Parts: sequence; C-alpha cells; structure tokens
Amino acid sequence: MEFKDFGLHADIERALTAKRYTQPTPIQSQAIPVLLEGRDLCGIAQTGTGKTAAFSLPSLDYMLSNPRPRTPRGCRMLVLSPTRELAAQIAQSCRDYGRFTKLSVATVFGGVPINRQIRDLSQGVDILVATPGRLLDLVDQRALRLDDVEIFVLDEADQMMDMGFIHSLRRVAKILPKQRQNLFFSATMPKEIAALAQQFLHDPVTVSVAPQATTAEKIRQRVTFVEQKEKQALLHHVLRSEEIDRALIFTRTKHGADRVVRHLKGAGIDAFAIHGNKSQGQRTTALQAFRSGQVRLLVATDIAARGIDVSGVSHVINFEIPNVPEQYVHRIGRTARAGAEGIAISFVAPDERTYLRDIERVTRTRAEPVALPDGFTEMVRNLPKPAQPPRNTGGKGRDPQRQREDALRKKADGAPSRGPRREAAGEGAQPQRKRRFRPRRGGVGAHKGAVQRVG
Ligand code: AMP
Repeated sequence: MEFKDFGLHADIERALTAKRYTQPTPIQSQAIPVLLEGRDLCGIAQTGTGKTAAFSLPSLDYMLSNPRPRTPRGCRMLVLSPTRELAAQIAQSCRDYGRFTKLSVATVFGGVPINRQIRDLSQGVDILVATPGRLLDLVDQRALRLDDVEIFVLDEADQMMDMGFIHSLRRVAKILPKQRQNLFFSATMPKEIAALAQQFLHDPVTVSVAPQATTAEKIRQRVTFVEQKEKQALLHHVLRSEEIDRALIFTRTKHGADRVVRHLKGAGIDAFAIHGNKSQGQRTTALQAFRSGQVRLLVATDIAARGIDVSGVSHVINFEIPNVPEQYVHRIGRTARAGAEGIAISFVAPDERTYLRDIERVTRTRAEPVALPDGFTEMVRNLPKPAQPPRNTGGKGRDPQRQREDALRKKADGAPSRGPRREAAGEGAQPQRKRRFRPRRGGVGAHKGAVQRVG
C-alpha cells in the first residue's frame, strides 16, 4: 500500500513527498482509512510506530475538505499529550504535514508563561496540542473554549494515567461537545485504560500494531551483570568501545541522572540530564542539543524521556533497569525508530535480576549476555572523580553546565532563520559520522572536574 491509495488532499500528499515518506507504517495503513470514514478509533501503539501521522493526516484531510472559519478562543482539533516534550513534537509533526496548507497549529503546556498562550488562542486555531493541566487552566480563565472541537485525540493514555491526569481527563470529557470524532492511543491496554477509553469512544474500531509489550524486533538487546557501584566504570567502557551516534541513558531517579552526568563530565565526556527537576528552559535546551547532535549523550528518567522522538538514537543504555516491564519496552523503543536498527544495553545489578526475569517473560525475548571487559577492576579503580555538583554561588557564570546551556539557548534563540531544529537533525539532514567517546588521557584535568566536549 502507498500513501496515494488513501486519496488524501493534494497539499498533504505534497508534504509527505517532501518528508520522503513513501509507504505507510502498519498503524497508518490500518488507521487512516477508518479515520477518513469518520469512525472513532482505539489505537494500541507505542511512540515510534508512526502513530502521529496516523491520526494527524486524516484529521488534516477532514479540515481541508470541510473548511470552516476559526472561532475566537476555539479549536477544531484538540490533541492531549501527557508531556510537554511530546506535545511540542506532535505540534511540529502537524506543522510539517500541514505545511502547504493554511491550517494553524498552537501548543499549550505548563512551565512557561500563560499570557502568550492566551494571545495565541485569541483568534482561534485549527489544531491545538495541549497537556491537560494547562488546557484546563486556560478553559478556567475563559481563554479557551472547547465547544467547537470536532476531532479529539487522547495520546499516550497509559502515561496520562501514570501521571495522575485522570481527574483532568474526566473534566475534559464533560466539557467537550457530544458530536465529535474521538481517537484514543495507548501503548498498553490494561483494564483501567480500557475503562477510560470507553468514556471517550463511541463504537470505535480497534487497531493494534504490536501485541502488548512486544519488544521492537530490530533492537539488539544485550545485558551485562555488574555491581551497582561499578556501573559508572562500565558505562565509560561502553562509551569508549561502541560506535555511538546518539545514546539515551536511563536512570531510575533524578539524582541518579545528575550523578551519572557529573561522573561523565569528570571524565571529560559531555552529556546533559533531563528530568522533572529541570526547568522547561533546561529541558528544551538539552533536547535541542541532543537533536542537533551538539550533545550525543542524554541521561534521562522515564517520565522525562517518554515520547521523545529523536532520529538517530543508536543506543539506549539502561544504567538501571526499570521494575515495570512495559517501561523497558518504552525505553528501548527510543532507538530503532522507523526502520532503523538500534542497540539496547542493560546494566543489571544483583538486586535487579528479578526485574530482568520479568522483562524477559513479558517481552518473550532474551537479551544476549555480555561479560565484563578484561581489566575491568582496573577501570573501576581508575575511574575519574565526578565533576563538582553546581554550587549555588549566586553567580550564574560559575557553573559550567549552566554556562553551556545558556550559550546553547542563546544560539538557538538567535538563529531563527535556520528553521526548526528537528529538521536540522531529521529526515533531510546528512547522516552524522559515528564516533567513539574518548575521555581525556591522564585524567589530571578530569580529576579537577574540567568540562570538555569529546566526540
Ligand atoms: P511517531 O510514532 O508518530 O512518533 O513517529 C515516529 C517517527 O517515524 C517519526 O520520526 C516520523 O517522522 C517517522 N515516520 C512516521 N511515519 C512514517 C512513514 N510512513 N515513513 C517514514 N517515516 C515515518
């Protein structure tokens, strides 16, 4: 099947050609015809399967075929996303797919001033992508009305539940008009999510692209058994020995993420952390730097990384493995996107072995065991000291990570003519050379916590 078989509006087909999409992904083949008929849809699919295009292409097509003037403070299509990162990504995809049309897209999420969002909405928009909390704030302030919504999309429903958005979602369900098309997506469909789906959907068609918690086929999974306190040395070894394009490193806690970054910096390896304690500005900067390849290592917690779509993530490293098997599937799904190959490496401490067994049972796969490298004891002994945690000296310039983040942010802000960052690192970009991360030799400077970009 090809995209032209759907008979989508010519302006959408043009955008697909520009993005060099030739064949629809399985979720797109299944969902697009049903949605073009105006049916409700329950999609069981994880990020990385192409579900954003699956729901946005037919919706754009509907709006183009049924033009209607914008109503002040209203929107025709509402997409709810659990995280700001995913919301920004969905909005960017809608802009990409609608770039040859006049349809407007706005994003609203918390953590940034509300006034600009109120202004953006004042004339009304065609597509609004929002996180639930800020959406309801705007409704309460009468800056947004939902009585014109014709298409409602609830994305990553299981994550919404994990993040405690259930009450907000129930409220949204009450405000939405009765007559509308509903699309509901979730990576998993346990009973409570199915119950939530029932509240939104009317006689839906269900499509599922991968059996629940199936591990992406193209990912090579490896596991090394190692003591918790020796994991940092193993990480440095992996970064030195693997051909890494971009790696996402997962830790279980926010402090754990910061600690890994400090250790890497101590060894002269540049990395950013992304987690819930970081400001929106820091998170955006870190993601942009990662997308553009300026920083090749991003250390993340699960919540912060959910939905991140960065092409060219060659490795996912589980510094700690998750205690929920589905989370493992989500994590390793960050690599091997849209047909690319990927490698997932898990460091498993003795007390994590039961988690690994659960993961293997649920995914029905077995990761290939890889022994600790020769001379590992030596590597542990010679591990450079971590960089000092940033001190609150009141002087912004003292903290090198912050200095670097500020510099990157300024650069990003000052370069509007370059267009969206995502494109710079995305489909049309030159493939980047793979590199190894080489810590500085001798480690003298590294012991002082000097920061140097390597790779
Ligand atoms: P999603 O699951 O919507 O986050 O999409 C994952 C990635 O696949 C995104 O980078 C999309 O740009 C890409 N993608 C989606 N559909 C296609 C397609 N039909 N052909 C090639 N790439 C696609």
